[in-house]
Amino acid sequence: MRWKGRPQSTNVEDRRGGGGGFMKRKSTSLGGIGFFIMLLLFLFFGQGKSLLDFSGGSAPQTQSSGDGATNGKQDDAGEFIKVVLKDTETVWGNIFEKSNVKYQQPKLVIFNNRVQSACGVTSSAVGPFYCPGDNKIYIDPGFFSELNQMGGKGDFAKAYVIAHELGHHIQSLQGISDKVTRMQQRMSKTKANKLSVRLELQADCYAGIYVHHIEKKYHILEEGDLEEAINAAYVIGDDHMQKRAGMGVNAASFTHGSSKQRAHWLKTGMLHGSVSKCDTFADLR
Ligand SMILES: [Zn+2]
Repeated sequence: MRWKGRPQSTNVEDRRGGGGGFMKRKSTSLGGIGFFIMLLLFLFFGQGKSLLDFSGGSAPQTQSSGDGATNGKQDDAGEFIKVVLKDTETVWGNIFEKSNVKYQQPKLVIFNNRVQSACGVTSSAVGPFYCPGDNKIYIDPGFFSELNQMGGKGDFAKAYVIAHELGHHIQSLQGISDKVTRMQQRMSKTKANKLSVRLELQADCYAGIYVHHIEKKYHILEEGDLEEAINAAYVIGDDHMQKRAGMGVNAASFTHGSSKQRAHWLKTGMLHGSVSKCDTFADLR
């Protein structure tokens, strides 16, 4: 992806270097969905780790690659995040404008180790996340190293991760996240799980929409970029992660979708670039 020297978003809060304080249990997070996912994963994995959204299950290695710290030096991770966020502002701003709706840009917080948000205090171990309570995306750049170790290589894999979280912001603006949370409160865990998967797959499809439009507008893709994003969606599929953790694949415990599903919906968004093609809930109706 061509990103060096391109315009950067000003909606970024850099909280690297500061600690978020004592880790406490969240009362609600991600509109309740995040907590629910954490709880389920806790139950299925039997570990005290909070896996959310992208986490591979181990906390990112603190600045092993220099990803997270600025130290007054070149800050590639920070710069990259700001460029991708700016791109999403352009893409989603245009899409909303076409429907005569003003796009409310989210803030993005870059942090290390743990962070305080309207969703509580969250450890890096949960991976990047979106908090609907304050409409902010939270990313510890250390996650990118972890993604790399998991096989999600390349800069466009990172762009996909950011665009996926942005997808959750869109769902929040559309009222979809709230609706799903309310429905989940009235159903069994297995059924609620299935809805979480739909929500995550839609965020993948929305990430694809970003790819579609940003390429159309700026031609920033380089050879292998699309494959990098699709491959990243594949390696963080639930089945792939369960296998990687040395466990049998248990579809009932999926919260984000299988590798195949995630790659499929990302590709769907990439191909059509249209929100109407991202109805991952269609066959449930
Ligand atoms: Zn997600």
